[in-house]
Amino acid sequence: METPKNETFRDSIGTLTEDGKRAWVYPKKPSGRYYEKRKIVSYGLIAFLFIAPFIKVGGNQFLMFNVLERRFNIFGFPFWPQDFYLFVISMLIGVIFIALFTVAFGRIFCGWICPQTIFMEMVFRRIEYWIDGDRNKQRKLDRQKWDAEKIRKRLLKWFIFLVISFLIANVFLAYLIGSDKLIRYITEGPFAHTGTLIPLIIFTAVFYFVFAWFREQVCIIACPYGRLQGVLLDNKSIIVAYDHKRGEAENGRKKFRKNEDREALGHGDCIDCLQCVNVCPTGIDIRNGTQLECVNCTACIDECDHIMESIDLPKGLIRYASEDEIEKKKKFEFSPRLKGYTAVLVILIGVLSGLLLLRSDVEARVLRLPGQLYEHKQGDIISNVFTYKLINKTTDTISDVSFKLRKYKGEIKLVSTSNNFEVPAQGAAEGTLFIEIDKSELSGDKNKLMIEVYSKDELIETTTVNFLGPRSYN
Ligand code: SF4
Ligand code: SF4
Repeated sequence: METPKNETFRDSIGTLTEDGKRAWVYPKKPSGRYYEKRKIVSYGLIAFLFIAPFIKVGGNQFLMFNVLERRFNIFGFPFWPQDFYLFVISMLIGVIFIALFTVAFGRIFCGWICPQTIFMEMVFRRIEYWIDGDRNKQRKLDRQKWDAEKIRKRLLKWFIFLVISFLIANVFLAYLIGSDKLIRYITEGPFAHTGTLIPLIIFTAVFYFVFAWFREQVCIIACPYGRLQGVLLDNKSIIVAYDHKRGEAENGRKKFRKNEDREALGHGDCIDCLQCVNVCPTGIDIRNGTQLECVNCTACIDECDHIMESIDLPKGLIRYASEDEIEKKKKFEFSPRLKGYTAVLVILIGVLSGLLLLRSDVEARVLRLPGQLYEHKQGDIISNVFTYKLINKTTDTISDVSFKLRKYKGEIKLVSTSNNFEVPAQGAAEGTLFIEIDKSELSGDKNKLMIEVYSKDELIETTTVNFLGPRSYN
């Protein structure tokens, strides 16, 4: 189907020229009330991002995503590989929470919380403004030949970008392998750990590439969340929107002329100054309507507000609003779709809370040694051999650990270790054990036994095993 004429801007993305080349965006330096608020939120979040891996709660890193060992800490709560289902539920909650937020408030996450936007707009772009100057000076510098000034500015900028990319890569690593390990590797010297040094260099290069060159294209081309906007947003979602009713009126937008009665001429409040376009970091014209490139950064709201103020018109020609609010003057309502997402979210949070309460700090696994049935020993004793593994998810050593049989009279004998052993903090103890029971105690060839795990006299975990014996006991 052919695209309608006024929708042709949707045929290509704002950062590509007609012949498919990169159209470098030189956004004007934003200023205004939203920008000031975003600065506060952004620097707070950056501080949190840098500090979080070094905070400990009950001996656990506050946030850790050790993908290689499948160990995750969320808000100081450790998730082991055995708890992977809990981690998956937590991730699902996160995804539904973001979906719920997107349906209600559009890409508010992209503009205010996403690390890509925060680092790009509040760190790298601001350094660029500081070194290269605002939009026009940046364009001029780019066109300028490689003289002393350009070389000095470029080298300084690239060096600072590289240092920040290296810092971000280190923090990223602290989330991946744990901050204790990272600090140890740094103090022992990076060349003693080339297996970690190489990923660190790769991460630095990736961050440098993203922030120095790829930039807004992450949001436009690469980000999967950006792609979801088309299905998540509807006419009731609050987004950064241009009030086309007010901006265009009956006779459309028109350049500003002093002492002209725009209302009488039927022109809207948009004076076609293009400042909202110049300030946009993704290079789009918000007056065309909702576009996938828009990361809801609010820069165009601030810029248009300045213009409205300067020509004595009410602010808010571009503002946070839904399509319905602009078209039908309808206020925000809690739609059935939002109710559905909320219900799913509440159920998942309930399930997760229940599972977290039921989760024990110690996990015991006792499994039959493969290929072994039972042994009939002297004195009518039936013996089965098992392997055991005890996982200690806490940050304290569990001492004086012993096994006992519930209900059955019998003995548990550990191979090559005595009862009352230790399970190291955040570690495991494993080995082989024999269970010996007098055959008169058994009621068939398969008996379900419950094994209790004690630390000193405290019961810390229970597990069950199938104990095999002869078919007949007459
Ligand atoms: S900044 Fe406001 S007035 Fe200027 S072009 Fe954009 S919408 Fe129109
Ligand atoms: S259209 Fe406005 S809110 Fe969207 S990315 Fe551009 S400047 Fe930011």
